[in-house]
Amino acid sequence: MSYCVNCGVELDKDAAKCPLCQTPVVNPVCPVDTTIPPNFPVERREVEPVNHREVAVLLSALYGVVGLCCVVLNLLFWWRGMPWSAIVAGACAMLWVWTVLPLLLRSLHSIFLVGLDLLAVAGFLWVIAMAVHGGSWLGRLALPIWWGCSVVILFLWYILPLRSILSRCMLVLGSCVVLMLWLELCIDLFLGGYRPMWSLVVAVVGVTLMVPLLIIRYRPDLRREVRRRFHF
Ligand SMILES: [Zn+2]
Repeated sequence: MSYCVNCGVELDKDAAKCPLCQTPVVNPVCPVDTTIPPNFPVERREVEPVNHREVAVLLSALYGVVGLCCVVLNLLFWWRGMPWSAIVAGACAMLWVWTVLPLLLRSLHSIFLVGLDLLAVAGFLWVIAMAVHGGSWLGRLALPIWWGCSVVILFLWYILPLRSILSRCMLVLGSCVVLMLWLELCIDLFLGGYRPMWSLVVAVVGVTLMVPLLIIRYRPDLRREVRRRFHF
């Protein structure tokens, strides 16, 4: 048994060079047999890229079959006064927007795709509300929360790639604080009266974390020191 003198990898008896580091092998006891085909492929080939349209067709068929089967089962066998299949079909439609549309609309800017994803969520909420007769919570709770989340997600999606790491951390923290305050406001108003509690705790923690980041951001010496220590 032979080993490469350079990297130590185990060699075939008749190897002319090391398969790992390409060091030539000189073995007077066992000369190289050039008639035997090499153990490793010498031709370099690349895997063909995925055809996005084919994947889109496959996923569409999958979602379509699931939704259709549930609607048929619901109508024929398990009605019991509730169109539950509408929720499944709505979930399939939402997943279709999330996963298939990015494959079909590849030239569209990602922020528009995120907007369509958020609209799909709103549509799904509406389907659930219609299926369970929940019109009141849809208008007074779900849609205001959806609206707040959408504004924050679209804002961060647009602004984050343009900013430095420190600014991104501050923007994410600030957005979380605003979102939590909005969330508690929506929930409290739905339940009957606004009494801010847990969102204020989140806000205090968020602002406490943002202040040192803000100081580092606008003090060049501190910023250089942090960059040097954390390698960014
Ligand atoms: Zn080697």
